[in-house]
Amino acid sequence: MKGQNYIDGRWVDGAASFETMNPSDLDEVVGTYSKVGEEQVREAMAAARRAQPGWAAFNMQARADMLRKVGDLLIERSRDIGTLLAREEGKTLPEAIGETIRAAQCFHYSAADVVRAQGEWYNSMRDGFNVLVTREPVGVVAAITPWNFPIALPSWKVAAALAYGNSVVLKPSSYVPGAAVMLAQILEEVGVPAGVFNLVMGEGRAAGNIMIDEADALTFTGGTATGRVVLNRAAETMTKCQLELGGKNALVVLDDADLDLAVEIASNGAWIQTGQRCTGTERLIVTKGIHDAFVERMAKVAGSYKIGHALDADTQIGPVANVQQFNENLQFVKDAQGEGAELAAGGVALEGRTRGLFMAPALLVNTKTEWRCNQHESFGPIASVVKVEDLDEAIHAANDCDYKLSSGIATTSLKNAERFRKASQAGMVMVNAPTAGLEYHVPLGGRSPSGYGPRETGASTAEFFTETKTSYINHGAL
Ligand code: NAD
Repeated sequence: MKGQNYIDGRWVDGAASFETMNPSDLDEVVGTYSKVGEEQVREAMAAARRAQPGWAAFNMQARADMLRKVGDLLIERSRDIGTLLAREEGKTLPEAIGETIRAAQCFHYSAADVVRAQGEWYNSMRDGFNVLVTREPVGVVAAITPWNFPIALPSWKVAAALAYGNSVVLKPSSYVPGAAVMLAQILEEVGVPAGVFNLVMGEGRAAGNIMIDEADALTFTGGTATGRVVLNRAAETMTKCQLELGGKNALVVLDDADLDLAVEIASNGAWIQTGQRCTGTERLIVTKGIHDAFVERMAKVAGSYKIGHALDADTQIGPVANVQQFNENLQFVKDAQGEGAELAAGGVALEGRTRGLFMAPALLVNTKTEWRCNQHESFGPIASVVKVEDLDEAIHAANDCDYKLSSGIATTSLKNAERFRKASQAGMVMVNAPTAGLEYHVPLGGRSPSGYGPRETGASTAEFFTETKTSYINHGAL
């Protein structure tokens, strides 16, 4: 794959280039991409600024049709995009195709948003007046995305931004820009006018700073530490921010849980997709009556997965996405053992048929809530078990962590489920379901410091991608 930046309707080279590697096979270069220059980022922002009013005024039906067509083409090309994504990010092919279909669904959803009514009419306190609250595009949107969902994440941001009449400059993660290049090709093909959508690729800080300075709004997904940096930068220009950040999601397993289901949702949340989901389960908080049986079953499941090349048909868990994350994962397990955790399964590098970043899913047991392994995000296939007395202690442990993205409970008691649902401080709560696995028609996001600003996806997108205007109209004088 060769990828250029897409600026003001033209494909352009940058000052330098960079390569991406296949995490399933480090001997394979997947893509060579142009690294955007700072002046080019400014050009992209200026192009977006020029194009935005025209896009906002563009015929509504034509705009909706375009976005729907983007979704159709994503589905049509889901095998090609999925294959590239599997090679570049390391998801298994079914996961990668599934992610591409999800990207398409987001465009289809947003296509319908174009034609949904925007605004409310109120009676006024004053005789002869009306009050109108209308929504207008926020303007030029900077979108910055991480490496773990290379097509779905850019898509749900771009689709929502375009639906509400905004223009966009997208900067995907330099680890996985290929799918974003294919998305840009589709947006060009369906006829999105020059400058309305722009793609820039390269290192985060240099491009990011210019994007934040020049944009009206920043939609960012990535680590909490990076989120703090971009939020500080955005404060200078008061750029509107939507930040989706890290997680350290807890699943509570109660004595009254269905053990089979608890093991299924816990293992899925913790290890599937190589644990590289922001909503993945990193903490398992288990009451004492079910603890030993649960741990024994989880250790068996951890050892049963077929881990290997993302494109092999029998692979259930692909490689870790990049060398840095791989090294961090292995170090995380060692550090946890250093503070007293016992390794019940995995946690080590594995050999494969190729030179890939394969890691055995790790289960750490006999850990304490306050330990680093239960406070710091690992973002890998690593779960730590904390044994607790009862639901009260479980609720306390689940909330006793800075991150507040997703949480879950395995129980057969409606009373216990409802108590946990209400007490959880996370932005999303799952009952008898993995902490990961979200739907695109409802709000997605965590409470600070796992998130900041209006939520993503579904009905909440209007909050971020538009500004309201309140108008008082004195009809008597008209
Ligand atoms: P990251 O923070 O390292 O990078 C994210 C993006 O920010 C990349 O495109 C990067 O180039 C860019 N960037 C880096 N420094 C920047 C700067 N100073 N200014 C502007 N942009 C900059 O994150 P990552 O390692 O790519 O992704 C993993 C993280 O993302 C995890 O913490 C995970 O939890 C989080 N994440 C959160 C969600 C969510 O919805 N809450 C979803 C997916 C991933």
